[in-house]
Amino acid sequence: MTAPPAAIRVGIGYDSHRFAPPGPLVLGGVLIPGEVHLEGHSDGDAVAHAITDAVLGAAGLGDIGEMFSDADPANRGRDSIDMLRSAVKRIEQAGFKVQNVDVVVVAEQPRVGPHRQPMRVRLSQALGVDAACVSVKGKTNEGMGWIGRGEGIACIAVATIVSVEP
Ligand SMILES: [Zn+2]
Repeated sequence: MTAPPAAIRVGIGYDSHRFAPPGPLVLGGVLIPGEVHLEGHSDGDAVAHAITDAVLGAAGLGDIGEMFSDADPANRGRDSIDMLRSAVKRIEQAGFKVQNVDVVVVAEQPRVGPHRQPMRVRLSQALGVDAACVSVKGKTNEGMGWIGRGEGIACIAVATIVSVEP
């Protein structure tokens, strides 16, 4: 199965993680001081995980769970930016490169605004694009549901990738 030439393809990714003490947490590759971190097998970086799934999905190359098994001790506490970089390498080997990424972070806390710029820089370096090609937006859930109660964080990402001429 080969991709059509010079195709633009889009992928979507979703991730959620539960908050737990102690802090700090890692989001979009940026350390955010506070009382909680994000629980998970890796460093719990839901932004990096959602983007990784969006990038892999755009290329039709599976998902983060397939690529980095929870059962593999090597992935325990792993830097999710490193996982993202590996996923980007995989799609590049398949003849694609990332074009742009847009992310929505849904949480009551922390507020994304003050961390947006460093996140864009960190993520763009892993994605191999200019920081202008990475967008990170924050939303609250208006106090509703598990997000509203501050139990955790949800992230939604889309990525476009383009096929590279050989
Ligand atoms: Zn995750």
